Amino acid sequence: MINYPIEAIRRDFPILSRPVNGRPLVYFDNGATTQTPNQVVKAMEKVYLEINSNIHRGVHTLSNLCTEAFENARKKAAKYVGAASEKEVIFTRGTTEAINLVAHSFGETFLGKDDEIIISAMEHHSNIVPWQLLQKRAGIILRIIPVNDDGSLDMEEFHNLLNPKTKLVAVTHLSNVLGTINPVEKIIEAAHNINVPVLIDGAQAIQHLPVDVQKLDCDFYAFSGHKLYGPTGIGILYGKEKWLNEMVPWQGGGEMIQSVSFEKTTFNELPYKFEAGTPDYVAAIGLGAAMDYVGAIGFDTICEHETELFQYAFDRLSSIEGMQFYGTAEKRTSLISFLIKGIHPFDAGTLLDKMGIAVRTGHHCAQPLMDRFNIPGTIRASFGLYNTKQEVDALVDGLIKVKQLFG
Ligand code: PLP
Repeated sequence: MINYPIEAIRRDFPILSRPVNGRPLVYFDNGATTQTPNQVVKAMEKVYLEINSNIHRGVHTLSNLCTEAFENARKKAAKYVGAASEKEVIFTRGTTEAINLVAHSFGETFLGKDDEIIISAMEHHSNIVPWQLLQKRAGIILRIIPVNDDGSLDMEEFHNLLNPKTKLVAVTHLSNVLGTINPVEKIIEAAHNINVPVLIDGAQAIQHLPVDVQKLDCDFYAFSGHKLYGPTGIGILYGKEKWLNEMVPWQGGGEMIQSVSFEKTTFNELPYKFEAGTPDYVAAIGLGAAMDYVGAIGFDTICEHETELFQYAFDRLSSIEGMQFYGTAEKRTSLISFLIKGIHPFDAGTLLDKMGIAVRTGHHCAQPLMDRFNIPGTIRASFGLYNTKQEVDALVDGLIKVKQLFG
């Protein structure tokens, strides 16, 4: 048992003490979005109340203060993921936009007919559909790494798929359905051996696993602020400078240009080349505050707490008769997907909600993975840094009641 300041942490998140349907809230939908601590809300409030002004373009005091706070958030993000330079950190609206940016800009710059991109069968739709759209635009071919029964990637097949036509590999670091931690280091090494860049979808990993993009040596890493205790509408695309420099811009507009004329327009330097228009600088500053918040608790401490909680939850849920888990690979964390024999996930989710317990049910934006396991959906309990064993007990008791009613 680690010494973890759980009560102080929970006090930072006022929403956790609100009742839902007359019962104390048990929030196990962190995979969809995490809650936001006071410190993040206050940081954003401070922007609106004290320094709000559009960034980069002003000579006046407020604009300078706001620009400084925004660029400071970029510095925090660069440090958080271990980027070599702040130029490699692009603010986006989230993981989805970050992947779309790569699909457009990398796609337009480097990809053509019959070039191959490898993704996996466990991807979120946001790491499938942008490539399918590119398939339509550029005629690329998508190759899919299959998923084993335990929810791990079929690495043998991955090695078979890699070939001279492969131009990009794009895989998730941690599955939002199975909790599997993918061997991204091995994937990157194998791809780099034949000079293929790798994009990692870090939407579920950034808040649960230590991420160092230089150690990983990935070429792109995408994540969302709202899954890291930050605000919605903001995310990060990390990209190696060498790729970002060569890639054509995606969206055009203010900020991403150096000069504009009707004869010739030139583009701004990195990272601004990929940040057209006014960014959500308030949310970016909020994300910086979220990174500070996690850093103040200590990422290792959080991981230890979550690992203990995950193990406890898995053991306790295993005791329920008729339980079928999806995702049993050795390396996994942060969430548990399951079905209970004879009970529709939607019914279970609705009844749990009546007891104040928030879980997610359905396909989790991973329909090809549902097809792989031949199921319509699962019940998913996903954990965050503020969850407790007592809440896991409440979930288990809730599921026993669900079974009594529907089983
Ligand atoms: N990738 C994974 C693995 C996810 O779990 C999610 C969201 O659940 C996304 C991408 C998309 O994130 P966002 O909706 O914040 O862009």
